[in-house]
Amino acid sequence: MELSQSVTTIDELLGSLNLNAAQLSTSQQAIADFALRVPRPFISRMQANNPSDPLLLQVLPVKAELSSAAGYSDDPLDEVSHNPIAGIVHKYANRLLLVVSPACAINCRYCFRRHFPYQENRQNKEQWQNALDYIRSATEINEVIYSGGDPLAANDHFLAWLTEQIADIKHIKRLRIHTRLPVVIPSRIDQSFLSWATATRLKPIVVLHINHANEIDNEVIQSIKRLQACGIKVLNQSVLLRGINDSADCLAELSEKLFDCDVMPYYLHLFDPVAGASHFDIEERRAKKIYADLQAILPGFLVPKLVREIPNKPSKTTIAPE
Ligand SMILES: *Cc1c(COP(=O)(O)O)cnc(C)c1O
Ligand code: SF4
Repeated sequence: MELSQSVTTIDELLGSLNLNAAQLSTSQQAIADFALRVPRPFISRMQANNPSDPLLLQVLPVKAELSSAAGYSDDPLDEVSHNPIAGIVHKYANRLLLVVSPACAINCRYCFRRHFPYQENRQNKEQWQNALDYIRSATEINEVIYSGGDPLAANDHFLAWLTEQIADIKHIKRLRIHTRLPVVIPSRIDQSFLSWATATRLKPIVVLHINHANEIDNEVIQSIKRLQACGIKVLNQSVLLRGINDSADCLAELSEKLFDCDVMPYYLHLFDPVAGASHFDIEERRAKKIYADLQAILPGFLVPKLVREIPNKPSKTTIAPE
């Protein structure tokens, strides 16, 4: 129900924050390329009257998306060539990613999968057999990652079925869920989710996606606690984004707030050069400087790893600070 009540128009989004389109370079045309979608719990954490609110800027379609910049592409991570079977992205030796749901609860304008061919990856249970056969035959894999889109946009009945099929494959030990839903619609972490996620023999890990401390309110803390109470390990990954979290103080505040809820910072991703989002990019030298400053004000265990995904490497690439 909360998903269906999401805001999908610029007018309603800005109106609820007492802002008007003239204060921001919004674009209807950008919506034609990638829909506007923001759940209300996420909007409730935005500040009214603030045209540079860091949550608003993550979801607001703007004119800058229409300008094409050299070096920015539809598939910056070369995922299509690592998509051997519909539903699978297999790049790294011992783990693979399942595109469980094409949909997301929120559309982040900087999303590197904003042009992913989800239609070709949409499938029913029967077609999932091919993906399951692939996992069965890939005995070097011990971890399956549910991704998307947002995997928790799929229904629990399907997720429980898929998880059972995967748990039947002996060489799989861990199930990792990459999701932003506990953040944008905290009530998604309900009994129906927890019952399949904890019934499996697979060791579950949830990797959240939070970019700014303001995204964490009491409801989010409660959803995280529900995960942890069932023994699920919770980590967080962020993307370094211009105008949103590009300062050491801002990132330190996020790490501190995550630690307050026992969530460990995992990755800080350098932006992937996806077409339509070049206005979020930060020059690598500046990113390294921010990171060095961050290291100076946090204990080592609260500093996420600064990484970039370079196509055709065997893992994410760690970026050393200046
Ligand atoms: C990022 C990613 C993973 C997970 O990598 P970790 O370093 O283990 O978090 C797996 N598969 C793909 C395709 C990825 O992009
Ligand atoms: S939640 Fe993740 S996959 Fe979905 S739009 Fe945002 S960044 Fe992309």
